[in-house]
Amino acid sequence: MRLIIIGGGIAGLSAAYYAQKNHPEAKITLLEADSHWGGKLITDRVDGFVIEGGPDTFLATKTWGVELCKELGIADRLHGTNPEAKNTYVLHKNRLESLPDGLAMMIPGKVMPMLKSRLLNWAQKLRIGLDFLIPVKKGDADESLGSFVSRRMGRATYENLIEPLMSGIYAGDGDKLSLQSTFPFLRDFERKYGSLALGAMKMYRARVKSQKNRGSRSIFLTPTTGLAEMTEAIVAYLKENNADLRLNSPVSRITHHDSRYQVGLAVGATLEADSLILATPAYVTGELLASPLPELAEVLKSIPYVSTATVSLAYKLTDLPHPLDGYGYVIPRREGRRALACTWTSTKFPHRAPEGHALLRVFVGRAGQEDEIPWDDASLLEIAREELALTLGITADPLVSRVFIWEKAMPQYNLGHPEKLTQIDAALEEMPNLAFAGNGYRGIGIPDCIHSGELAVEKIFKHEEHEETQSY
Ligand SMILES: Cc1cc2nc3c(=O)[nH]c(=O)nc-3n(C[C@H](O)[C@H](O)[C@H](O)COP(=O)(O)OP(=O)(O)OC[C@H]3O[C@@H](n4cnc5c(N)ncnc54)[C@H](O)[C@@H]3O)c2cc1C
Repeated sequence: MRLIIIGGGIAGLSAAYYAQKNHPEAKITLLEADSHWGGKLITDRVDGFVIEGGPDTFLATKTWGVELCKELGIADRLHGTNPEAKNTYVLHKNRLESLPDGLAMMIPGKVMPMLKSRLLNWAQKLRIGLDFLIPVKKGDADESLGSFVSRRMGRATYENLIEPLMSGIYAGDGDKLSLQSTFPFLRDFERKYGSLALGAMKMYRARVKSQKNRGSRSIFLTPTTGLAEMTEAIVAYLKENNADLRLNSPVSRITHHDSRYQVGLAVGATLEADSLILATPAYVTGELLASPLPELAEVLKSIPYVSTATVSLAYKLTDLPHPLDGYGYVIPRREGRRALACTWTSTKFPHRAPEGHALLRVFVGRAGQEDEIPWDDASLLEIAREELALTLGITADPLVSRVFIWEKAMPQYNLGHPEKLTQIDAALEEMPNLAFAGNGYRGIGIPDCIHSGELAVEKIFKHEEHEETQSY
């Protein structure tokens, strides 16, 4: 059986890993358009700084990431975030205010820190209290994250607290994001406890208890010298096992004849496959399937993606007028800045900058703001430096800077996304030797993408086993 996997991001690499490990009899080819493996996972190691271009950690509580690292033999290289750096800040009226302690999945789960917070005035804090009285919304209809939080806790809580935290994950517009596809457990809190705050309180207490049991290990993990360690380990495993790995191999078309797929490379060659896993962004998957599956292709192309960029800057500590005593800060949309967050990387992960130095990372670009951003390295660096000067008073020239532009990178699970998934699933049901993986569907975090690759492999080989049984 020849399996072709298209797209060598973490989802495609994971699919290749699980296919190779669990089905060594299959012939596996992995095709990647770019000149490096890992897609959004890219690490630059320069002058003692570890600079991540895309993600910098993954969530340990979704266990697929940790499990894969264990299998690859790199679990002992996983670090948590710095336990000393307790604060995260929110930019509020041009000042950095601490995020209140006790948040559970962004929602306030402790009363006192919320009462003391300067992010909301007293009327807005009282409005949160109404959450205990507002009746549970009936029915199963989806609603946007913005509308849901505003309905239960007031618009100010959404705009000053939830929106900037959510933006740090999806770079999205919360008034469009589907609650069901992004934060379904928030609706579960409402249904189960009749209150969002009560659900958050219970979750917060459970988390503190489990942290104590685990010896307070961070829920965010990353390998010592960057997430590229994961992709490097997968590629090494695949090479050892003679998988066919091809960089610089963009796929330009797919056709389907005689129960086999013909995969056309932009360079001209055509490869034949019995089964196909597409681990490309949903809009690319749609373009590639336009000929054999035009209706499905339209659904895939209708999943929107937002462009974003990261700008990393390194300084001497003595050049910084503001203490970097936390993980960094997020910027609410209403503050009107072009940056959406700044991570204080060398505080979050002290080993990522040499002694006496600091590494910061500014995120630029979110849904609805893309036309305001000049998408070139020099302008993005300028925007990042302007942000650091305004908020942290940093005017020195950076010792090192790196800009990563991610065009159409963040899928937006907007209202209507669950219905699109139903259509995609129904179409794939008819195509047992075709599967999709990646961040376009059921989760954008690294563990979700790894799991999507594993599930795609399961689907393909379940079909193969069924075929073999039929032929006896
Ligand atoms: C700036 C940023 C920060 C993030 N931070 C975090 C974080 O801290 N933690 C976290 O868990 N997640 C984070 N994410 C999300 C996470 O990184 C992504 O969702 C995940 O890496 C996507 O993996 P993927 O394999 O689905 O897609 P991709 O990484 O996009 O891989 C798809 C691959 O397909 C290739 N491809 C495209 N077209 C073709 C073609 N025609 N032929 C062949 N190959 C093709 C591409 O070159 C690419 O390599 C972040 C994302 C970004 C952009």
